This record gives sequence, C-alpha cells and structure tokens, in this order.
Amino acid sequence: MRHSLYYKFILGYLIFGLLGFVTIATVSSGAMQQKIVEDRVESMYDEASLIAASYSRVYQGRQQDLNSVYPQMQAVAQFLQAEIWVVNRQGIIVVDSDTSAKSGTLIDGFDPTATGNRQYTIGRYFGQFPYDVISVSAPITGNYNTYGYIVVHLPMSEIQATTNGMLNVVYITALVLFGLSMIILLVFTSTVYFPLKKITAGANEYAAGNLTYHIDVGTQDEMGYLAATLNYMSDELNQMEEYQRNFIANVSHDFRSPLTSIKGYLEAIIDGTIPPEMQEKYLTRVIAETERLNKLTQGMLTLNSLDSKSYLSRTSFDINQVIKDTAASFEGTCDAKNISFDLTFSDTEQYVWADLGRIQQVLYNLIDNAIKFSHPDSTIYILTYAKHEKLFVSVKDTGIGIPKDSVKKIWERFYKTDLSRGKDKKGTGLGLSIVKEIIQAHGENIDVISTEGVGSEFIFSLPRAAGR
Ligand code: ADP
Repeated sequence: MRHSLYYKFILGYLIFGLLGFVTIATVSSGAMQQKIVEDRVESMYDEASLIAASYSRVYQGRQQDLNSVYPQMQAVAQFLQAEIWVVNRQGIIVVDSDTSAKSGTLIDGFDPTATGNRQYTIGRYFGQFPYDVISVSAPITGNYNTYGYIVVHLPMSEIQATTNGMLNVVYITALVLFGLSMIILLVFTSTVYFPLKKITAGANEYAAGNLTYHIDVGTQDEMGYLAATLNYMSDELNQMEEYQRNFIANVSHDFRSPLTSIKGYLEAIIDGTIPPEMQEKYLTRVIAETERLNKLTQGMLTLNSLDSKSYLSRTSFDINQVIKDTAASFEGTCDAKNISFDLTFSDTEQYVWADLGRIQQVLYNLIDNAIKFSHPDSTIYILTYAKHEKLFVSVKDTGIGIPKDSVKKIWERFYKTDLSRGKDKKGTGLGLSIVKEIIQAHGENIDVISTEGVGSEFIFSLPRAAGR
C-alpha cells in the first residue's frame, strides 16, 4: 500500500510496453505482410508478362521450341526466387523453371479464371504444392488467341521470411524506444516519487506530534513548494504549541503567588497567628491580592477578545480630551509620588478615527507604567503631533528605563523586566501586550525608545479623522 503510486506507475509503464509489442506483432505485422505481398505480386506479374510476350513470339513464329525461352525464364525464376511454369490451355505444365519438377504434369481442375478479379491466389495451387504459395499468372496471347499461361509461384515462407526480417528491425527499434522511455520513469522517480516519499514521511512525523521535523526537499518546483509550505506550517504549529505551554506556565505562576499569599494570610488569621488588632492590615493585603487577580483575569479577557479580532467600534473623537481625562484619573497616585504631567498638544483639538474605549485603555496602561516606573518628584511628558494622515502620541517618563536586552520582550505577554519586579509587585506583564494588540488592531504602530536609568518614551500613531 505504501508504494502503491510507484507500483501503479511501473505497471502502467509495463502495460504500455506490452501493448506496444502486441500492436507491432498484430497490426504492424499484418500490414507489413500485405504490403510485401503486393510488392512481390507486382514484380511477379511484370516478369510473367515479359515471359508471356517471349512465349507469344515463340508460338506465333511456329518455332514450337518452347525451350528457347527457357534460359530467360530460369534467370527470372532465380531472381524472383520463384518457380515459373508455362501451362497450356488444357492445363498441362509444358515447361517448368525447376528442371527436376513437373513438366508434363496435368493440373487437375486447372482454371485460369480462378483468381477472379484479384491478381493472385494464395494456396496450394490446385493441389500442386505441399505448402502455401502465392501464384500469379499472365496469359500468352497473340493473333486473338490464348496459347497458354505463364504462372509464377512464390512460396509463402519466402514472404514470411522477408516479413520476419523487417519485423525484427521494428522490434529492435521499439525495444530501444521502450528502453529510452525508461528515462521518463527515472525522471518521475527522482522528481515526484522520492520527494513525495519524504513529504509523506514528514506528514507522518507531524501526525505523530514531532513538529520539529524538517522535510528536506529543496527543489524549485511544486514538490519543493509543498515541502516548504509543510515545513512552514509545522514551524508555526510548533511555535503555537510552545507559546501555549509558556502561556499556561505564566498564567499558573501569576495566579499561584497571590493565591498563596491570600491563603497564608487567611490561615494565619483563623489560627490566631495574626492577632485581631492586626487583622485589618492583612485583610487589606488580601484585598490587594484579589485586586491583582482581578486585574489579571481582566487583562486576559481583554487579550482574548482582541485575539478573536473583535470588532473595533470606531468613532471620531478629540484625542487631546481623552489624554487630559486619563491623566486626571491618576491624580491620586500622582499626588502620592509628587509626579506632575506636562501635556503638549500641537493643536487645541485633534480628532482621530479610532475605538475610544480601547484608546483610553492604551493611554491608561502607558500612563500607569510611566507613573509606576518614575521616580518621585518627576514629570511625565505627553505630547501629540500630526504628520500627514497620522496623529502621533508620545508618553515619556524619566524613570528607571528598560534594559537594552529587554526592550524587545516588553511586548510579550507576562513579561516583566528584572528591574520592575522589585518595584512593581502588582504588575501582570499583560499591559503592554494589550496596548500593542489594540494599536495593531487599528492598523497602526507603537514603538519605544528607552535608556536604562534615564527613562522611556512610548510613541504610537492613530489615523486622523477626516473632515475635522
Ligand atoms: P506590567 O503590568 O508589569 O506593567 P506591562 O506589559 O505594562 O506589564 O509592562 C511590561 C514590563 O515592561 C514592565 O514590567 C516593565 O518591566 C517594563 N516597562 C513598561 N513600561 C515601562 C516604563 N515606562 N519604564 C520602564 N519599564 C517599563
């Protein structure tokens, strides 16, 4: 079953060869024999007529020496490899080119019209031969008289031998061609069969779960393309699998730590390790931990809804107003750290075409990070400027910055830099992934410029609303 395609092709190839030879043996051989018979008959008839003309002169000259034409007749007989008779009207063989043979014999049932309208007969010629001969006759005529007939016989075995000789040439040619057509088989084997075998082996590996398997077909044809596509597919699946593994590991980790501390605090309260007067403090921590869990769940739900390419409900709104409102919502936190905002807008009103709720979340996450990672008594700069059809928003802080080797990773889900782990225990590592997904869902981009210890600047673009 595994090699069925190859075997089918070989079987087809053998059937093709067999049918080819059968065709030569039947159709071609028949047609060839017919053609040879016709050619021979023609030359036999020509010679018979010539001899008949000579005999006609003999009869008319009344020389009656029939043997005078004998040498000519014998030469012709030898040339045609035939036997020639002169038969008189009564059916007696008068002269026979074969000296040892039948002169004087009466042909029983002799009928010169037996050929009908054909030029020749094939058979034993009125029982005169023990084997099949092909016979042609020409009348000896003169003075409106038929004196007799010249009959030329050629054994059919002669024709058969000639046919076989020619057929052999055809067979050899066909054999050579069949051998050469083997090249097609070789080309099929190397361009289709072997690559297909490798691809099938690869597909089996993938089915068995080995997604790291690489199909090694590098040709620039359909097979190569198929292999490359499968390799690409398995890579993607592999990455997805790895991503899922990481995702689950991260989720479990991020859920476990707050749950462990909640459990610890509550147990300590119940068993009295934490005295009643301290309980409020620890219960507040429990609430903070549940808030963190809530935030995590919320973040994951948001990401999930973005993943499923949820519909953006775009409207035209003034981004400046959204920035002002969002910044204002952080008043309490800012006051606590004595952080201030510096807002610079290139115009009093700037309309963008975007999903208001989602953009509010982007700004919220960016400003939240800026505050979290800023030192006390610093300023956060928010800037907008228009360029062609786009509006750019920059959120910049002078905080701890992002280490160089982390800059690319901050967009990954659950990623937190080592610097921030100590500083921000509440962080989920989901904020920036959400930001990126939202901006990308809008068909826009977000970038970060950051230097460790100096600060970070996040810049994203939005489409400007038309007509405003
Ligand atoms: P988190 O909830 O931890 O803030 P984010 O996805 O928003 O998650 O951010 C991922 C990480 O990127 C943060 O933990 C922090 O290490 C780094 N980061 C984000 N914003 C800033 C910033 N303004 N300054 C320094 N580091 C930042």
